[in-house]
Order: sequence, then structure tokens, then C-alpha cells
Amino acid sequence: MENKTGCGCGCSTVQEMEPVNAPAKEQLKENWYLPYMNKKILGEAVEEKPSPVAVFYCAGASNVGQASMLASVQAANKVGYDKAALLCLASIPAGLKNIYNGAKNARGIVAVDGCPMQCSLRTLKKYELEPRKNIVITKDLGITKDFDLNTGQDLETISQHIVQAVSEVYNSVPTEKPGYLIKP
Ligand code: SF4
Repeated sequence: MENKTGCGCGCSTVQEMEPVNAPAKEQLKENWYLPYMNKKILGEAVEEKPSPVAVFYCAGASNVGQASMLASVQAANKVGYDKAALLCLASIPAGLKNIYNGAKNARGIVAVDGCPMQCSLRTLKKYELEPRKNIVITKDLGITKDFDLNTGQDLETISQHIVQAVSEVYNSVPTEKPGYLIKP
């Protein structure tokens, strides 16, 4: 099914008891969390929303590195962007405070890495961001690393693994946590 982008105004609500891995609603398929945090940094009025789980992926130059990114997008489309927010890993060492604040205020962090070098996990830890879950595609899914960037790994299986990790982190937080701004 084609993915359409919603309005992103935050006007929709989600039933509290809705399963986290239920099919995402059309209006939830915008990666809204970063622009939301940008508005908060600028002091613009926003409708307070519960924080999603932040997902970082290594996006490395290998089959499994590319799969970390593509499968993370698939996973977010499955659970919906009110539950999973994709954030840019490179922005952390680059010093972008809005994304760092987004990670700090997330419901938890899932780091997706292609191989045991664990660049995503290690980068986040270096900046005092502690992922609750770390997926290593080679180890956890038994996929061999190579450098063919166009092989199209089993994204469905990998994304389902990410969905499971996001669900566990999301459901482990008992109360809905509104996103807020930590002063840099
Ligand atoms: S974790 Fe592995 S695949 Fe990902 S960026 Fe690092 S070396 Fe590349």
C-alpha cells in the first residue's frame, strides 16, 4: 500500500490501549517529532504530545548498513510515527541541539546497527545517550555483511525485529511522557 504523508498538525489522537504494532493510521505517517522539537526550541506554541521512541540507524556503506536505514523506515511505517521517530545519527556528533534534545526527551532509544562495529550505539553512548535496545543485523538476524549496496536484504524480517524492539521500549514506559525541551 502506498504511504501517504499526513498533515502532521498533531490533531489526531491514539487510543491508549491500541497495540503498538497495529497498522499505522494514514495521518501518523509523518516523521513529525523533529519539526515538533524545532518549534519548541523556537518558542512556538505546539500541542503537547507524548514522546515517541527515538530510532537511530547507522546507514553504513554496506548491505547491512543500508538495510538498517530502509528497515527502520519500514518499521516506523508499521508502528506509526507517534510511537517511533527516526532521528539523524550524524546530527549528534555534529552538535545539532534540537535533535539531541529530541533524543533526550524520547520515550527511549533504539539503535540499529548493521554489523558488530556498532557505530550507532557507540556514537550515541559517546554523547551520553543510552539506547534501551541495540539491534545488530549481522548478529541478531544472521545476515552476512557484504558491500553490495543493492542486494535488497530481507527488510521485512529486519523491520519486524525493529518493530518488536520499539514495542518493548514503548510499552515499558508506564505513563505517557510529553515531549519537552531540555535547555542545552
Ligand atoms: S555498524 Fe557496521 S555497517 Fe553500520 S556504519 Fe558501522 S561499520 Fe558500517
